[in-house]
Amino acid sequence: MGIVVQKYGGSSLADAAAIKRVARRIVESKRAGHDVVVAVSAMGDSTDELLDLANEVSPLPPAREMDMLLTAGERISMALVAMAISDLGFTARSFTGSQAGVITDSVHGKAKIIDVTPGRISSALEDGHIVIVAGFQGVSQDTKEITTLGRGGTDTTAVALAAALEADYCEIYTDVDGVFTADPRIVPTARKLDRVSYEEMLELAACGAKILHLRCVEYARRYDIPIHVRSSFSHLEGTWVVPDPSFTAPDSPEGETMEQAIIAGVAHDRSEAKITVVGVPDKVGEAARIFEALADAQINLDMIVQNISAAATSLTDISFTLPRADGQTAMKALAALRDEVGFASLLYDDKIGKISLIGAGMRSHPGVSAKFFSAIAAAGVNIQMISTSEIRISVIVDEGLVDAAVAAAHTAFDLDATEVEAVVYGGTGR
Ligand code: ASP
Ligand code: MG
Repeated sequence: MGIVVQKYGGSSLADAAAIKRVARRIVESKRAGHDVVVAVSAMGDSTDELLDLANEVSPLPPAREMDMLLTAGERISMALVAMAISDLGFTARSFTGSQAGVITDSVHGKAKIIDVTPGRISSALEDGHIVIVAGFQGVSQDTKEITTLGRGGTDTTAVALAAALEADYCEIYTDVDGVFTADPRIVPTARKLDRVSYEEMLELAACGAKILHLRCVEYARRYDIPIHVRSSFSHLEGTWVVPDPSFTAPDSPEGETMEQAIIAGVAHDRSEAKITVVGVPDKVGEAARIFEALADAQINLDMIVQNISAAATSLTDISFTLPRADGQTAMKALAALRDEVGFASLLYDDKIGKISLIGAGMRSHPGVSAKFFSAIAAAGVNIQMISTSEIRISVIVDEGLVDAAVAAAHTAFDLDATEVEAVVYGGTGR
């Protein structure tokens, strides 16, 4: 049997009892004959607590020190898990991201993994140890500083380790039984997916499904690592994230090759804001000027909508969405452009939410948008913006109406389970 990489999230490691339970689970895999490498997150909500603490101490904590602080959370987990394993008669070695060979670029707070050199992990495995790695962190190749990979980054650590160690697959243990057709906290009748393709999972993750870190799915697709998302609180089979729905991963039950569903799920996101630049002169280069200013401010945009200009005025409006956290920076950057571009005003709205319908089947099935928009209309929800990709339709709506719109779309596409399947075992959803 080969190497298996497992990841345990914060809600699976909330307290001492939980850590002992996870240790037993890790030991089960070792007993089954696997070489086991485990990436751990910080306990419970401790990353949020560290963030709160930092903000109490300083309104603008230096990014380097923030990473030094936050990486401590995962170090606590790794050592405690290793201790609990040794009580079960097995030996474990814990390693920080840097010791484990996770090499990143030098961007504090959202570093990208550029290489994994798992020499120490491999020798620890050869010596018969279980390996525990602190997730969400690495060391910068050029600055030699400790970095973090962005919130939820332990998923990415796990998949990167799986790729570097040529593991058969990567198991992501969490507080729900798998990937659901919608967030079970909003839609209790959400259904667990047995399989989902990398492509659909990428869209789900990018559109706010918090179950997997987006970068982790990109990594898995690039290196062809099947991911098994499952609960650490049950022994149920979870969701396999795989190249295509007919793929059967090693150790997974033979799937009846089901006909692929048209829609994989409905995702939602309440972390964005909307800015409208009102009355932009309809001239060559205006959009370029506006978006260059936002790029210079390092802001990642999501949807962008520009209407045709009104014939009478030759003026148009441009709206876009962006992370709420970047809202004020963006407004400042744009305000500075006002005279140069000559637009009339700026509107800012952060009481919005995005709902996305995702499914590879929409490529070949007409009428999906019509059905989606009718369901949202029937729920009495007004659509403010629309954008699409080949396998996704997203709409922006009023923040307070997100739950209703998600539930309506979920029902319209027959995604509701007849019995409640979704159990949320832990976590505060923070
Ligand atoms: N502890 C970090 C966070 O809460 C990383 C992770 O959980 O994956 O974002
Ligand atoms: Mg966490």
